[in-house]
Amino acid sequence: MSTIFTKIINGEIPATIVYRDELVTAFKDINPAAPVHILIVPNKEIATVNDLTEEDERMAGRMLLAAGKLAAQEGIAESGYRLIINCNHDGGQEVYHLHMHLLGGRRLGRMVAR
Ligand code: AMP
Repeated sequence: MSTIFTKIINGEIPATIVYRDELVTAFKDINPAAPVHILIVPNKEIATVNDLTEEDERMAGRMLLAAGKLAAQEGIAESGYRLIINCNHDGGQEVYHLHMHLLGGRRLGRMVAR
Protein backbone atom coordinates (compact mmCIF):
# COMPACT_ATOMS: atom_id res chain seq x y z
CA MET A 1 0.00 0.00 0.00
CA SER A 2 1.44 3.37 -0.93
CA THR A 3 1.99 6.18 1.54
CA ILE A 4 -0.11 9.34 1.62
CA PHE A 5 2.89 11.21 0.19
CA THR A 6 3.19 8.79 -2.73
CA LYS A 7 -0.49 9.43 -3.43
CA ILE A 8 0.23 13.18 -3.49
CA ILE A 9 3.25 12.67 -5.78
CA ASN A 10 1.10 10.55 -8.13
CA GLY A 11 -1.70 13.13 -8.13
CA GLU A 12 -4.16 10.72 -6.47
CA ILE A 13 -4.87 13.12 -3.62
CA PRO A 14 -4.68 16.91 -3.86
CA ALA A 15 -1.85 19.07 -2.54
CA THR A 16 -0.22 22.34 -3.48
CA ILE A 17 2.92 21.15 -5.23
CA VAL A 18 5.60 23.84 -5.32
CA TYR A 19 8.57 21.91 -6.75
CA ARG A 20 9.12 18.67 -8.60
CA ASP A 21 12.04 16.99 -10.33
CA GLU A 22 13.05 13.41 -11.10
CA LEU A 23 14.13 12.71 -7.51
CA VAL A 24 12.05 14.83 -5.13
CA THR A 25 8.69 16.59 -4.86
CA ALA A 26 7.77 19.45 -2.52
CA PHE A 27 4.31 20.53 -1.43
CA LYS A 28 2.70 22.73 1.21
CA ASP A 29 2.06 21.14 4.58
CA ILE A 30 -1.67 20.71 5.18
CA ASN A 31 -1.36 21.96 8.77
CA PRO A 32 1.27 24.69 8.61
CA ALA A 33 3.27 25.50 11.74
CA ALA A 34 4.71 28.70 10.23
CA PRO A 35 3.84 31.10 7.37
CA VAL A 36 6.06 28.98 5.12
CA HIS A 37 5.79 25.24 5.77
CA ILE A 38 6.77 22.99 2.88
CA LEU A 39 7.54 19.27 2.85
CA ILE A 40 10.32 18.01 0.59
CA VAL A 41 9.85 14.34 -0.15
CA PRO A 42 11.72 11.69 -2.16
CA ASN A 43 9.68 10.43 -5.12
CA LYS A 44 10.75 6.94 -4.06
CA GLU A 45 9.23 5.55 -0.86
CA ILE A 46 11.84 5.52 1.91
CA ALA A 47 10.35 5.22 5.39
CA THR A 48 12.89 7.04 7.58
CA VAL A 49 16.44 8.43 7.60
CA ASN A 50 17.43 5.02 9.00
CA ASP A 51 16.43 3.42 5.71
CA LEU A 52 18.67 5.55 3.47
CA THR A 53 21.44 3.71 1.61
CA GLU A 54 24.39 4.92 -0.41
CA GLU A 55 22.20 4.59 -3.50
CA ASP A 56 20.11 7.44 -2.10
CA GLU A 57 23.01 9.86 -1.75
CA ARG A 58 22.07 11.89 -4.83
CA MET A 59 18.43 12.13 -3.78
CA ALA A 60 19.38 13.12 -0.21
CA GLY A 61 21.56 15.92 -1.58
CA ARG A 62 18.74 16.98 -3.86
CA MET A 63 16.43 17.38 -0.85
CA LEU A 64 18.81 20.02 0.54
CA LEU A 65 19.27 21.77 -2.80
CA ALA A 66 15.50 21.89 -3.28
CA ALA A 67 15.15 23.38 0.21
CA GLY A 68 17.56 26.20 -0.68
CA LYS A 69 15.74 26.91 -3.96
CA LEU A 70 12.36 26.90 -2.26
CA ALA A 71 13.57 29.22 0.51
CA ALA A 72 14.67 31.70 -2.18
CA GLN A 73 11.38 31.22 -4.08
CA GLU A 74 9.38 31.87 -0.88
CA GLY A 75 11.47 34.97 -0.04
CA ILE A 76 12.84 33.62 3.26
CA ALA A 77 16.43 32.84 2.26
CA GLU A 78 17.76 36.01 3.91
CA SER A 79 15.41 36.21 6.90
CA GLY A 80 16.15 32.56 7.64
CA TYR A 81 14.43 29.26 8.06
CA ARG A 82 14.71 25.83 9.61
CA LEU A 83 14.95 22.37 8.05
CA ILE A 84 13.68 19.46 10.14
CA ILE A 85 13.59 15.72 9.53
CA ASN A 86 11.79 13.78 12.23
CA CYS A 87 12.71 10.12 12.70
CA ASN A 88 10.63 7.47 14.44
CA HIS A 89 8.76 7.82 17.70
CA ASP A 90 11.03 10.07 19.75
CA GLY A 91 11.60 12.30 16.73
CA GLY A 92 7.84 12.76 16.41
CA GLN A 93 7.56 11.22 12.94
CA GLU A 94 3.94 10.75 11.90
CA VAL A 95 4.21 9.91 8.21
CA TYR A 96 6.57 7.04 7.38
CA HIS A 97 7.69 8.40 4.05
CA LEU A 98 10.90 10.40 4.50
CA HIS A 99 10.34 14.16 4.36
CA MET A 100 12.12 17.36 5.25
CA HIS A 101 10.15 20.25 6.70
CA LEU A 102 11.07 23.73 5.44
CA LEU A 103 9.78 26.25 7.97
CA GLY A 104 10.10 30.03 7.98
CA GLY A 105 8.43 33.40 7.62
CA ARG A 106 8.60 34.17 11.37
CA ARG A 107 11.01 33.82 14.27
CA LEU A 108 10.86 30.11 15.08
CA GLY A 109 12.12 30.19 18.66
CA ARG A 110 14.08 27.44 20.32
CA MET A 111 15.01 24.43 18.25
CA VAL A 112 13.77 21.95 20.88
CA ALA A 113 11.42 22.52 23.83
CA ARG A 114 13.36 22.23 27.12
P1 AMP B 1 6.10 14.34 10.64
O1 AMP B 1 5.55 14.52 12.02
O2 AMP B 1 7.52 14.83 10.51
O3 AMP B 1 5.92 12.94 10.13
O4 AMP B 1 5.26 15.32 9.73
C1 AMP B 1 4.20 14.92 8.94
C2 AMP B 1 3.63 16.18 8.32
O5 AMP B 1 2.82 15.82 7.22
C3 AMP B 1 2.78 17.01 9.27
O6 AMP B 1 3.32 18.33 9.39
C4 AMP B 1 1.41 17.02 8.58
O7 AMP B 1 0.72 18.23 8.73
C5 AMP B 1 1.77 16.74 7.13
N1 AMP B 1 0.72 16.13 6.32
C6 AMP B 1 0.00 15.03 6.63
N2 AMP B 1 -0.88 14.77 5.64
C7 AMP B 1 -0.68 15.71 4.69
C8 AMP B 1 -1.27 15.98 3.42
N3 AMP B 1 -2.26 15.21 2.93
N4 AMP B 1 -0.83 17.04 2.70
C9 AMP B 1 0.16 17.82 3.19
N5 AMP B 1 0.76 17.62 4.38
C10 AMP B 1 0.35 16.59 5.12
